[in-house]
Parts: sequence; C-alpha cells; structure tokens
Amino acid sequence: MTFKSKTMRPDLFQSPDYYLLDELLSDEHKMVRDAARAWVKKEVSPIIEEYAQKAEFPHQIVKGLGEIGGFGPYIPVEYGGAGLDQISYGLIMQEIERGDSGVRSTSSVQSSLVMYPIWKYGNEEQRMKYLPKLATGEFIGCFGLTEPDYGSNPAGMVTNYKDMGDHYLLNGAKMWISNAPFADIAVVWAKNEEGRIHGLIVERGMEGFSTPETHNKWSLRASATGELIFDNVKVPKENLLPNKSGLGAPLGCLDSARYGIAWGAIGAAMDCYDTALRYSKERIQFDKPIGATQLQQKKLAEMITEITKAQLLTWRLGVLRNEGKATTAQISMAKRNNVDMALTIARDARQMLGGMGITGEYSIMRHMMNLESVVTYEGTHDIHLLITGMDVTGFPAFK
Ligand SMILES: Cc1cc2nc3c(=O)[nH]c(=O)nc-3n(C[C@H](O)[C@H](O)[C@H](O)COP(=O)(O)OP(=O)(O)OC[C@H]3O[C@@H](n4cnc5c(N)ncnc54)[C@H](O)[C@@H]3O)c2cc1C
Repeated sequence: MTFKSKTMRPDLFQSPDYYLLDELLSDEHKMVRDAARAWVKKEVSPIIEEYAQKAEFPHQIVKGLGEIGGFGPYIPVEYGGAGLDQISYGLIMQEIERGDSGVRSTSSVQSSLVMYPIWKYGNEEQRMKYLPKLATGEFIGCFGLTEPDYGSNPAGMVTNYKDMGDHYLLNGAKMWISNAPFADIAVVWAKNEEGRIHGLIVERGMEGFSTPETHNKWSLRASATGELIFDNVKVPKENLLPNKSGLGAPLGCLDSARYGIAWGAIGAAMDCYDTALRYSKERIQFDKPIGATQLQQKKLAEMITEITKAQLLTWRLGVLRNEGKATTAQISMAKRNNVDMALTIARDARQMLGGMGITGEYSIMRHMMNLESVVTYEGTHDIHLLITGMDVTGFPAFK
C-alpha cells in the first residue's frame, strides 16, 4: 500500500442498520438524512482531511451546511429555520459528524447555542434581526460560557456587566469558544450587578471586543476555537436576551446541543466501524483476511452491538424530545454513553488498520482525536456521570 498524504481515500461509507431502525423513521426523516449524507460525501469527505491537517476551518462549506438544514434544523421556518422535528435534527447531526466532529461542532453551536437562545429567550426584534441570517450561514455565531477559571462549574463565572443608563458595560473573558475567531456575533453569559446570569448578544466590531484564536490543538483541528475578551465593551441595551435568566438559561441551550452530540457521536462511530469492517475483509495477513480471525471479529461484533444500542437509546430520546418529555438527565446519559462508545470504537478501529490507521488516508485517527474534545465539551464524561448519579440518588456530589 502507498501512503498519500492529506487527502482521504474515496468515501465508500455504508450505514450500518443492524436492527432495521430505518423502519422507525418517517419518509421525511429518511429524506433529510439521505440529503445530509449525500452532501457530506460530496462536499466534506473530499476536503476535510486536508483542512484538519492544516488546522483550518473550511469556510466554503458554510452555505451548504445551511442548505441541508445544518443551521437551526428545528427553528420555525418563519425565522429561516428548517422547521424539522427532533429526530430529523439528530439525523442531520449524525451525518455531519460522520464526516467530521469539527464541522458538526460548528453546526451545533450555531443551531443550539446561538439560534436556540435567541429564539427561546430573545424578543421578536432579536429573532427577526439574527435568526434568518444565522440559518443561511450569512452570520456565524458562537457561545461564550466557559471561562479560564470556570469550566465544569460555570455558575462561578466572573464575566460581568454594569448598567450605565443607556448601555451595558461588559468585562471579562471566555475561553475554548468554538467559532470564536470568525464569528459575527457571540451569545455571551455574564452576571449583572446582583450576580444573576443573563445572555447578551455581542457583535464583532464592538470596541473592546476581541477573539484571539487558540492554536496547537490536536483535536477538532477543522474547527476554529478561540477566546472572547471583553474590555469595557459597550453593549446596547436591546442586545440583552430578555426572556430567561439564571444558570438554567445556558443549561437549556446545552440540553439541545448535547442531544445533537448524542446523535453525532453515532455518526463518528459508524464511520470508524464501516471503515474497519471493509479493511478487515481486504487486508490479508497469514494468508487470510484479518476479518477471518477471532480477535478482529470480536472487535467488530462489539462495535456493531454498541452502535445498535446507542441508535436505539438515541431514537427513543428523540421521541421523548418530540413529546416534550426528555429530561436533562436522560440527555446526559445519552451524550455520555454515545461519546464514550464512539471513542472506544475509534480506538479499536484504529488498531484494526495497523499502521495505516494512523494516516490521513482513513478518517479513523481524525475521528479519534476529535472525540477527545467531544468527550470533554458540553459537560465532561465525569460530570455527566455525576448528573446521572444525582438524578437517581437525589444527592448532588459535585461539591
Ligand atoms: C475544542 C473545544 C471546544 C469548546 N467549545 C466551547 C464553546 O463553544 N463554548 C463554551 O462555553 N465552552 C466550550 N468548550 C469548553 C468546554 O465546555 C469545557 O472544556 C468543559 O466544560 C470542561 O471544562 P474545563 O476544561 O475547564 O475542565 P475542568 O472543569 O477544569 O475539569 C477538569 C477535570 O476535572 C473533572 N471535574 C470537574 N469537576 C469535578 C467534580 N465536581 N467531581 C469530579 N470531577 C470533576 C472534569 O470531569 C475533568 O475531568 C470547548 C472545549 C473544547 C476542548
């Protein structure tokens, strides 16, 4: 085999559906998923390895992401969204992350962490001003919650604003913010003088607002990450999200994003499984395909079992969300389970490809490194376990 750098082999992905889960999907679900899948094959797979290698976000895909419903899939059509249900939203995330977790991160942030709070917590003027442009990708947004000293514990945030009469004065800093380096707007969570958390829309170009990029990441290399620095930024009063405050406001956004991540992780896992399965049938060692050995079959059998369990869990969660019944703890369980499942599959799949598994000719190593961020952001693996623990015992063990 020869090693060609930068570009991946042709995308031959075939989606595993061991328990015939397609029968649980409506025609609309399948249509939306297939459109997203075809778009990823055509527009993401051929270029993503090169962009990940050079640690650059592929801006040329933004318009297409909007067209497949990747920005605000469940936001009502009157605001430019796709008006889809939660299962369609999940399937879009699954397909995008099958291509790359970094691209899915851009889509998740825009949809659930920027459009969702403007839709749910904003007023009608804010909705009309921002949502249609975010839905097409004309505007890119970012979400500022995490701070240098407050990650898992965002309630401690120190970013704050003061009421100056005709405007607010914002000070502080956010860290690890996806899309920050090129975002047109930021939904920023900050405390008022009484210590209550509110969301503010900060626009690029406001004096004192800067967004330095975070370099040297080994993970989510095709997604831009940065800081948000607020040095006496004058924010117009009409940019405050008026309809919800307190920590529950950003946590509500995270529920929606984590639900999408639960689906997205299945996409990354399916891609690793599919690649390893195909390779195991083609790669001959000791005069037979490695797929004919018991050890490699054990890996593949466990992968498809775990993918199938995750598909069922997540489909059910989608039904509960459509019915307005899904709890934060149920979403935590699915995010934690599915990302861990995907990471384990990526590690095993990478080993199955031997030396070829570390190259950019295959997507596996990129998925594996990406998933190290996905298992950390939007609540770490441990924090989600504590959420489940609190839910079943009634005792919060965070402090
Ligand atoms: C690539 C990337 C993109 C991101 N994008 C965004 C974004 O767009 N917007 C945003 O606001 N944030 C973003 N984040 C931040 C992310 O949400 C945080 O990194 C995450 O919440 C963890 O915070 P931390 O890194 O400060 O880790 P810490 O909170 O310092 O945690 C360190 C370790 O301690 C553990 N720990 C913490 N508290 C407890 C406890 N009580 N009990 C047991 N263990 C505990 C954690 O599980 C973890 O293993 C991003 C992060 C990354 C890596």
